[in-house]
Amino acid sequence: AVGVSAVGPILRKLQSDCATPLPVLRRVADAMAGEMRAGLAADGAGGLPMILTYVDTLPTGNEKGLFYALDLGGTNFRVIRVQLSGKGEPIATESEQVTIPQELMSGTSEELFDFIASRLANFALKESEKFHMAKGRDREIGFTFSFPVKQTSIDSGILIKWTKGFAVSGTAGRDVVACLNEAMERQGLRMRVSALVNDTVGTLAGARYWDDDVMVAVILGTGTNACYVQRVDRIPKFGGPKSHSGNTIINTEWGAFADGLPLSEFDKAVDAASINPGEQIFEKTISGMYIGEIVRRVLVKMAEAGDLFDERAPEKLSTPFILGTPDVCSMQQDTSSNLEVVGSILRNVAGVSSNSDARKIIVEVCEIIAKRGGRLAGAGIVGILEKMEKDSEGLIFGKRTVVAMDGGLYEHYPQYRRHLQDAVTELLGADVSKNIVIEHSKDGSGIGAALLAAANSKYD
Ligand code: ADP
Repeated sequence: AVGVSAVGPILRKLQSDCATPLPVLRRVADAMAGEMRAGLAADGAGGLPMILTYVDTLPTGNEKGLFYALDLGGTNFRVIRVQLSGKGEPIATESEQVTIPQELMSGTSEELFDFIASRLANFALKESEKFHMAKGRDREIGFTFSFPVKQTSIDSGILIKWTKGFAVSGTAGRDVVACLNEAMERQGLRMRVSALVNDTVGTLAGARYWDDDVMVAVILGTGTNACYVQRVDRIPKFGGPKSHSGNTIINTEWGAFADGLPLSEFDKAVDAASINPGEQIFEKTISGMYIGEIVRRVLVKMAEAGDLFDERAPEKLSTPFILGTPDVCSMQQDTSSNLEVVGSILRNVAGVSSNSDARKIIVEVCEIIAKRGGRLAGAGIVGILEKMEKDSEGLIFGKRTVVAMDGGLYEHYPQYRRHLQDAVTELLGADVSKNIVIEHSKDGSGIGAALLAAANSKYD
C-alpha cells in the first residue's frame, strides 16, 4: 500500500479554487440577476439568451378534457395522454415510450416526422374508457421539443440546429410544428399541436397545475436550465402583442452563464476538451454530465503525483467520462468504515485498487465538486428570485414562492440537494428563506406539456 503525502497539496488547492463562501455566492447571484437583465434588454447583447417562450397562460388547475403530449428530446420519445377533470381531481394518464431507430436520426425530416406521427397514431387508437374526447374537437397536443428552437408563437418555432447526435436533413430553418402537422396529415391523423414547449417550461406548468405559488422551474439532470414567470412590462426587448396576463415565461438558458464562477484547472481542462469550448460554463460546473468527469480529472492528477494508487497512470482512469456522476454520488453515500463501496467503484469503473487513506481523499474530492455544484445552483436560483422581487416588490420574498425542481441529479444526489438548499438559506437569511420552497416535481414536464395544450386550447 502507498501513502498519500504528495496528494495533500493538490487537494488543498482544489478546495480553495472551488470554495463557495458567502461572498462568492453573493457575487454569483448578483451576476445572474445582472445577466438576466442584459438578456432581456436585447438579444445577443451578451448576458443570457433569455428566450421568450410565448407561454403567457399557465394551467390553473381547473382544466378539463383529454389532451396529449409528445416529448422529443433524445433517442427516445414519449407520448402521453391525460384526462383532466377539474380542480383537485386526480389526473388519469397513459404513456408509451418509443426508441427512435438509429437510421432515422440521420435520415430526412419527412422520415423522422412520419415515424413519430405513425407511432402517435398507433397510441391514439388505444384510448381506454377512462379517456373521453369532446365531440367535434380534434385532439390537441403539447409538443416538448428539447433542441434549440427560435420560437415565434406558442405553436410555432424554427429549428436552429439538431444536437445530441441527430443529423436529420431538411428540418433546420423550418417550423417543427409544421413538420409534425404535415406528417400527421400524411398519416390521416386528426390531431393538432396547440403548444410548443421547452422541457423547463413543461416542468413549470406541471408543477403550477397543483400549486399556484410555483414561479420558477429548474432542471438539474445531464444538463441544466431554468425558467420563470416574468412581468412583460419589464422586458425591453419585447416586441410582440401584449400578453393579457401581463406575464410571460422566460427560458433563461442559464447553462450559458459564466460570470464570477470559482473554477479550477480541472474545469478549464473539461471545457477545453469539450465540443463547445468557452460555452455553457455554468452547465459544465454544476450539471450531471460533468461532475463525474471533473472528479476523474482530479484523480488522474493525484495518481500522477504518485501516491494515490499503486499505478501512476492507470489506463482505464484516463478515459474521458469513464466516471459518471452517479458513481461520484454512490461513493459519497458509503458509510462503511473501510469505504468498501468506494473501493469497488474505483476497481470496477476506473480499474484501480485503493487503500483506505486514498478512498477518504477521493470522497473528499467528490464532496468538494458536489458541494460547489449544489451551492452555485442555489446561488443561481437566488439570482432569479432577486430579479423577480425587484420587478414586483413583496410578491416573491413577502409570500410563499415555490421553485419546482426536476432532473436526475437533483432527484438522486442528497448531498447536492442539501448544499443547494444551504446556499439559498445563507443568501436569503432565515426569515425570507422560510417563504421560499424548493421542491422536487417528479416528471412534471410531460404532463406539463399536455396542460399547456389545455391552457392554450384552440377551442376556448
Ligand atoms: P436528462 O438526461 O434528460 O437530463 P435526467 O433528468 O433523468 O435526464 O438526468 C439524468 C442525469 O442525472 C444523468 O446524466 C446523471 O448525470 C444524473 N444522475 C442520474 N442518477 C444519478 C445519481 N444516482 N446520482 C447523481 N446523479 C445522477
